[in-house]
Amino acid sequence: MSKLYVVGIGPGDWREMTLRADEALRGCDCIVGYTLYVDLIRGRYPDKEYRATAMRGEVERCRVALELAREGRTVAVVCGGDAGIYGMAGLILELRDGDESVEVEVVPGLTAAIGGAALLGAPLGHDFAVISLSDLLTPWADIERRLEAAAAGDFCVALYNPGSQKRRNHLRRACDALLRHKSGDTVCGVVRNVARAGEETWLMTLNELRDYEADMFTLVFVGNTRTRVVDGRMVTPRGYRDV
Ligand code: SAH
Repeated sequence: MSKLYVVGIGPGDWREMTLRADEALRGCDCIVGYTLYVDLIRGRYPDKEYRATAMRGEVERCRVALELAREGRTVAVVCGGDAGIYGMAGLILELRDGDESVEVEVVPGLTAAIGGAALLGAPLGHDFAVISLSDLLTPWADIERRLEAAAAGDFCVALYNPGSQKRRNHLRRACDALLRHKSGDTVCGVVRNVARAGEETWLMTLNELRDYEADMFTLVFVGNTRTRVVDGRMVTPRGYRDV
């Protein structure tokens, strides 16, 4: 039986990859992934055969990976962050469906929200929701319903895919949905290029976030009613000091 790993490589810096992910990448013959992620690891695993593909080619990328595995090669499909969070793990399992000749192993990785949260301080210290603002595969009405529900439940929210050249006003529309149940003073944090060159962080209010121009390398955190700024860091208290 051939082996196909679906590997989360973490947010960027090699030191934030897990030992298990490194083991899978060292052990495989062939690495398949979106160009950006492949370029992040190529220098570390120079002797591998690489198949780098463009951003929207997800189904094709996974078919190629499964085909290479069926031919007998040990294959690793790499994803940024975690492979199961807006990544390829689900698609690989769906496409493999019923094919006993390929064994799939999903190797977890540090998702961008965890890396970004550590940079800001501790914004996810209590219950939180993760919502993607990409409406390529999800109707905007569903995204808005989830934003409102998270805000009504006073969840902290991590927003993935807050913007791109084609989706300029998504973040503003998302803020407006959140503002139906959250105050305009809610503490928010923005991180860009977590664990990559050009890493940056900002703190602002939810009102200010409406005017922030996010790109596809940005991750946004919206606090709950108890989130505050402590010495320049974003903190959502769990409540230890209240007891
Ligand atoms: N599987 C990935 C998420 C892919 S969705 C993970 O678990 O992290 C792509 C979105 O994730 C980007 O638009 C951005 O919002 C966020 N993201 C991924 N890596 C990031 C990084 N290093 N810095 C900032 N945001 C990142």
